[in-house]
Parts: sequence; C-alpha cells; structure tokens
Amino acid sequence: MPDGGKTKRKALALKCAALTDIGLVRKRNEDSLWVDAKRGWLLLADGMGGHSSGDLAAALAINYVLNSLLVATKGTRDYVKVLANSVVEANAAIRGAGKQSTADHSMGATFVGALLRPGEMSYVYIGDSRLYLLRNGKLTQLSRDHTLVQEFVDAGHLTVEMAQNHPYRGLLTRGLGVHDEAEPDTGICALHPGDRLLLCTDGLTDMVDEHEIARLLGMPVRVDEVAGSLVDAAKSAGGRDNVSVIVAWFDNQPQQDDDRCAGGAHHQMNVNGLEQCRS
Ligand code: CA
Repeated sequence: MPDGGKTKRKALALKCAALTDIGLVRKRNEDSLWVDAKRGWLLLADGMGGHSSGDLAAALAINYVLNSLLVATKGTRDYVKVLANSVVEANAAIRGAGKQSTADHSMGATFVGALLRPGEMSYVYIGDSRLYLLRNGKLTQLSRDHTLVQEFVDAGHLTVEMAQNHPYRGLLTRGLGVHDEAEPDTGICALHPGDRLLLCTDGLTDMVDEHEIARLLGMPVRVDEVAGSLVDAAKSAGGRDNVSVIVAWFDNQPQQDDDRCAGGAHHQMNVNGLEQCRS
C-alpha cells in the first residue's frame, strides 16, 4: 500500500577496502588509488611501464579526475558523462604537464573509476586496469582491455588463455597521456544485493587467473581481508608488478566504524571516511 514516501527506506552501507603493494620485483610503486567511501567514489590508476615517471602520471590521473568530479558532479546525476569528461580533461592536463617537462614527456597511465550509489554504478576506464563484478559466484569483466592483445582475442586470433601470458599483453591501444585525444569507455550497471566489485591493476590479473580471483572475491570474510588475500595471491604467484585492488560492496547491515573502510600499505592512496549511504 502506498505510503506517500513516508516509510524510511532501508539504509545501505558501502563496505570497501583499498590496498596497494610494490610487489616482489619492481623498485617503485607506480599505482595510485583513491577511495572516497562517503561519496562512493573508487578511482585507480597504473603508471605505464616503459614510460618515464609512471608514478607521477598515475598520481596526476587520480588528482585531475578527482578535481574534475568534485566540480562536475554538482547538480547532475549523469555520472557516466561526468566520468568520461573527467578522463578527457585529465588526459589534456597530463599531456600538458608532460610537454612542459623534457624528462616526463612520455608519461602515461591507465585508469579505471566507478561512482557507486545503492543499486547502481557508473564507470569509466581507459587502458588495461580492470573492473570486475562478482554476482552469484560468476565473475564478469565489465571493462574491456584497451590492448593490442585484446584486439587479437576479439578478432579470434588468440584465445583468452593465450592472451593471459602473451609477451605483448601490456601494449596499450589507449591510455591517459598517450595521445592528444583520449577515448575512455563508459558503462552503467545495476547493482543487486550481494554483488561484489573489484577494481585492479594488471599486477593482479597478470599473476592470478579469473577463477581464483572469483574465489577470493567471494570469500565470506571482511572486505579488507578480501583485498589482502587478492594482493597476497599476486605476490605468492611471483609479484612481478605493483599490485593494487579496490574491493567494494553494499551491505544492508549497519557496520562498526573500524571496518567501514579499510586500507593498508598505502602508496599515494587516500581513503576518506565512510558514512552510511541511503537507497
Ligand atoms: Ca602495472
């Protein structure tokens, strides 16, 4: 029976954890993360290997996108458009910064970002950092790698298994700071109760297959423990690259302050305090 909107709607709390690790081989961590659990904003960037100052590019990507979002999300609910514009603006800024510095002229980064609200996620990506959805035990990659190897897979020249270990899998067809024009892809996804989300760099997906990622992401443990187990799995498999993960899901159970949002081993990472979101 209609109640004229007077019934208090059930509160949905966002649980999230962000974790980054230098890995076992690299001398620098070129990944950057930003989690604003209060707003439901999840941002992740990976400084591109082979480019100078990849860590700077990744940090700039996060900062420029974040600044753009803070302005552009005011007064609009069209988050997909806002996200796409923020990436285009970040690309222009990174290109400009690179051109001003002879040392950093080739810096670039991949980027994936998601804006969550109860029941819905808007997302954007460019490069090969990934966004996954785990629903009812099934893992779906919502992003699509902007790589040459992915194009070979799409054309039927390579299998997914062959692509996993292909020596050229890191060759990007799109990225931030790579070209004067950036072409991010965007999407919008309805979120169901029980859905779990993962944003990650290739330091995870190069080392851990999707079957294992699905298993770990679905474990009935705290969100920070899930993030930790994913990073540990990448390191146990060799940890050849920096590995970064953001894990998030909505939960209708009120939570304690100490596990609302968690992170560890932070590198250029910020985790803002979480407040309860309402559906
Ligand atoms: Ca990487």
